[in-house]
Amino acid sequence: MDYDVVVVGAGASGISAALSAAQNGAKVALLEKGDKFGGAGMFGAQGLFAVGSKEQLERGEEYTIKDAYEEIMNYTHHSSNARMTKAILRESADTIEWMRQNGLDTELVTNTQEVHQNHPRTYHQFIDKFNGFQRVMDNFINAGGTLLTETSGKEIITEGNKVVGIKVITKDEEKVLTTNNVILADGGFVGNKDEVNQYAKIDSNDMYSMGERKAVGDGLRMLKEVGGVNNYKRIFENHAATVYSKKSHKWHNNTIFSLTNLPTLWIDREGKRFTNEDIVYDFALWGDTVYQAGGYYYFLLDQKLVDYLKKNSLNWTDSFERTFRLLDGKPMTYKVGPFESIEQDLQEAIDEGAGFKADSVEELAEQINVSPTSLSDSVKRYNHLVKKGEDTDFYKDNKFMNVPVEDGPFYAIRANSTTLGTVGGGLVNEDFQALTSDRKVIPGVYVVGNNAGGLFDSSYPTIEGLSNAFAWNSGRIAGKFVAKNK
Ligand SMILES: Cc1cc2nc3c(=O)[nH]c(=O)nc-3n(C[C@H](O)[C@H](O)[C@H](O)COP(=O)(O)OP(=O)(O)OC[C@H]3O[C@@H](n4cnc5c(N)ncnc54)[C@H](O)[C@@H]3O)c2cc1C
Repeated sequence: MDYDVVVVGAGASGISAALSAAQNGAKVALLEKGDKFGGAGMFGAQGLFAVGSKEQLERGEEYTIKDAYEEIMNYTHHSSNARMTKAILRESADTIEWMRQNGLDTELVTNTQEVHQNHPRTYHQFIDKFNGFQRVMDNFINAGGTLLTETSGKEIITEGNKVVGIKVITKDEEKVLTTNNVILADGGFVGNKDEVNQYAKIDSNDMYSMGERKAVGDGLRMLKEVGGVNNYKRIFENHAATVYSKKSHKWHNNTIFSLTNLPTLWIDREGKRFTNEDIVYDFALWGDTVYQAGGYYYFLLDQKLVDYLKKNSLNWTDSFERTFRLLDGKPMTYKVGPFESIEQDLQEAIDEGAGFKADSVEELAEQINVSPTSLSDSVKRYNHLVKKGEDTDFYKDNKFMNVPVEDGPFYAIRANSTTLGTVGGGLVNEDFQALTSDRKVIPGVYVVGNNAGGLFDSSYPTIEGLSNAFAWNSGRIAGKFVAKNK
């Protein structure tokens, strides 16, 4: 055999699986479709969840594996695989140490979202992330591992019910690597437009993906070909909402970004209000809210607010402030603005096709293709609630009920459902061995990270860092298991 195990995909779960298998004595090849390793686990994730880590114990965080287990099981209405959930939680603290020993250090930080401040700290944020990933890769190579970039896993080859190899495609050729074990770690299917269309509950054109584009469901397809289940709870990692330009994918405007992260008046595709907009302070729930509203909404501003924000700040918080601006440890500002160039910024959004401006609410309705009566009624009702200072419709915190939409011109900015990727699909046990639909182990086939089902239910839990922790810990568990049973 060329290798004891071939790992498909060098992102968070694949690197973890490959490193743990190699350090436990297996001869490992790690395949990566792109010319760089890391996947969303490197370009995207800033950290990961753990319970019972050294730092958590030192700080006296009162959060045990039991607490975490119950929190997750309650969140998913007990539809998580209990043994798998327990296995991930049990491994999580040691994984933080192991990553550190291998050069990828983290620090326990305050939870990144404002509404999670009273939750015990669980988020271990990467320090020196990109160099850290390189050090981990160096350790994999030093442990005898082989990294093959620009090499995609294509097909698992079996004889009887035994894995005997994997067909791979490189830049120049298609060839077979012989092995008895394959770990599918290629990150789900968010890069596959057809499958996203098939599984999303919204028009996929309305879904903005921040996920790994090279993750097109190769592993889940290979899994099905060897008798595995590849459609077990396919879930989108809904996360916040994004204003984007259909003209240029790279367009970004800081002012518009901040305005999106506020609980102003939001209107759905029917021209109606649809939520307590302070849901903006929980990214997963905000993401779910947009998803259930059909994939997009508009936030509304009037000229009075625009004029105000040009010179003044609002006593609110930008929901992303804690995540992006405080990485250097500066204190929260608890204010938004002033935005000196707000009018040019809004005009930029209009030019990019993401923003709309009209002298009256009814004209604005025509532009965003909703019923003028519906929009006008919604705005009147909202202004009435603002006057009362209380949101008796959706119970947004009263402290946000002070910005009416009264003075034209009026602006509407479109925010779209956003996903970090997909989770789930592959049916596996707590050792991350692939299972058939009647729950029999498929020898030699393992599924980890975003490819694996079992932890998440119908949405991405709000517990910070859980998705990446699932990737690192599922990979590590599978890698150890393969090495032991090779
Ligand atoms: C912007 C962003 C921010 C995020 N932030 C966080 C966070 O802070 N905390 C958190 O918990 N989670 C976060 N996540 C989610 C986290 O990144 C994922 O849970 C994790 O990366 C999943 O790991 P994975 O190994 O399954 O996939 P990935 O890390 O995406 O790795 C998959 C790899 O497989 C490769 N590949 C695909 N097909 C093949 C093939 N056929 N052959 C070989 N290689 C292949 C891909 O190129 C890629 O390198 C974030 C995600 C994004 C997009």
